[in-house]
Amino acid sequence: MSGIEANAMIEIRRTGLTGGPRVFAVANIRRGTRLAAESPLITVPPIPENDELPELCKAIDKLPDANATELANIFCPSSIIEPLRTDLRVRNTVWAHYKAKKWKDDDSGHVLSQGPSRRKLVRRTTNLCVKFLVTSVQLGPSGKYGSGVFPIHSRIGHSCEPNAHNAWNPTIQRLTLHATRDIRAGEEVCVDYTANVCRTRRQRAFVLLSSWGVNCRCAACTQPAVEKLRHRMLVIDGALAAYACGASSDPKFALKYGVPSVTTPAQALRAAEELVQLLRKQRLYGMELCRTFRECSKYALDSGIFDKALQYAQKELELERLLIGTDTEYLRGDLYGAECWIKSVRERTSHRPNAGYSYCQVGE
Ligand SMILES: [Zn+2]
Repeated sequence: MSGIEANAMIEIRRTGLTGGPRVFAVANIRRGTRLAAESPLITVPPIPENDELPELCKAIDKLPDANATELANIFCPSSIIEPLRTDLRVRNTVWAHYKAKKWKDDDSGHVLSQGPSRRKLVRRTTNLCVKFLVTSVQLGPSGKYGSGVFPIHSRIGHSCEPNAHNAWNPTIQRLTLHATRDIRAGEEVCVDYTANVCRTRRQRAFVLLSSWGVNCRCAACTQPAVEKLRHRMLVIDGALAAYACGASSDPKFALKYGVPSVTTPAQALRAAEELVQLLRKQRLYGMELCRTFRECSKYALDSGIFDKALQYAQKELELERLLIGTDTEYLRGDLYGAECWIKSVRERTSHRPNAGYSYCQVGE
């Protein structure tokens, strides 16, 4: 774990509870602080068909020994590792990979002898594939830049009430980790593995247990009052998604799926603003809040409330900087980024009638 121990803000230590090491704050940390910016142990390029296994075998063949050893040593629960290790799809892909290479050793170019040396190679690559599949993170939205495994990230625990956010920054070629709220010295640093807080406890529990072997016991998973808020968030999130894709124009949609009727920009704005309140109430200051600020801005613009659209766009930019930093040249010129969105709002508002008139204020 070279370089990890040198970090003055966080340390990796064993908890004794799960067997795996976790990340803890060693000092009081302010919201927005960059806790880490780490290089990958291994990456796989974006795969259009979503079948990364053949590319993963190639990446493992090129992996320096130190990285392979570190990848092999990452802790994963056996309930997740063992089924994958015996998964025929993984094993067959690894066999097919070496068969296509005619079983040549990468370093020496010698053909590996039949029997033990081939089986050993397949077993090693299969083990590394499995570690990658369990601990890798997508680089960019929907894996736009591929996926990778990182030393610190692969040891960070999960919480449905996370205090940190990680993001791939292609400008600096690092995975950054930022505090989403103030963190006290000694507190565990956690991210949300599911990357979606608008889910009920049961939905989260299924994904967490089946993908990472995690049985989360955070407040959101144990307190009925918090679960009620999460259920409301799920309902609003569903209503907004239905509005965005046009499904809510069906008059029976809201009744059929038990979501509020959202058929106009004004209703969408009200729903998005309620979601902002719910996220803030639970101190969920991550990307969901950032995305919801964008929705508020967009629906305010569609409703003709221009100042509000600009204020929400500004809030999105402030939060984006806290979550991923300012060294983000890759976002310039991309509407996905808040700065570009602000420009587009300004352009649209500068053409409006009565420009400069203050319509309303966005609450803190
Ligand atoms: Zn939880």
